Amino acid sequence: MKIAVFPGSFDPITKGHVDLVKRAIPLFDKIIVAIGVNSQKSYLFDLEQRVEWLEKVFANYPTVEVSYFEKLTARYCNSVGARYILRGLRNASDFDYEKTISQLNNIIGDGIETVFLIAQPGFSHISSTIVREIIKGEGDASPFLPEEIDL
Ligand code: ADP
Repeated sequence: MKIAVFPGSFDPITKGHVDLVKRAIPLFDKIIVAIGVNSQKSYLFDLEQRVEWLEKVFANYPTVEVSYFEKLTARYCNSVGARYILRGLRNASDFDYEKTISQLNNIIGDGIETVFLIAQPGFSHISSTIVREIIKGEGDASPFLPEEIDL
C-alpha cells in the first residue's frame, strides 16, 4: 500500500494545499495530511482549530486522513508505514529549502522518498504566511482559503 504523508504547519490551510492534495490522490492509496507540531514555534491558529479545518476540507475524500505529530517527520512516516512524503514547490526558494530536507529525510527515514508537485500557476502565489499577514492586517483572506473555512 502506497502511503504518503503531507506534512506542514497548515497555519492556516490554503487553496494551494488543497489543490496539491487533490492532484496527489491518484498517486497514492492513502495520504495523511499531518500537522507538524514544533513546540518552539508560535502559530496564529491553535492545533485543534487547524485539525478541525483539515478534517472539514477533506471530509469527502476517503483516501485522505488528517493527523498531527511531534518531533521528526521521518520518524512519523516510519511509524505510520509511509514510504513517501508529499511536498509542493512554488518557486526556487522552495526548491532550495526542500532539496536539503528531502535528502536528510531519505537518510534518517531509511529510504523515504519525497514526491514534489509543482504548484499550479493559479495557486503558486498563495502561502499561509501571506494569508496570516492579510488576517493580521484585517484584510479579506477568503480568496486564498478553502470554502469550508469561515473566518
Ligand atoms: P511548512 O511550515 O512545512 O512549510 P506549509 O503549511 O507552509 O508548511 O506548507 C506545506 C507544504 O505545502 C509545503 O510543501 C509547501 O511547499 C506546500 N504549499 C504551500 N502553499 C502551496 C501552494 N500555494 N501551492 C502548492 N504547494 C503549496
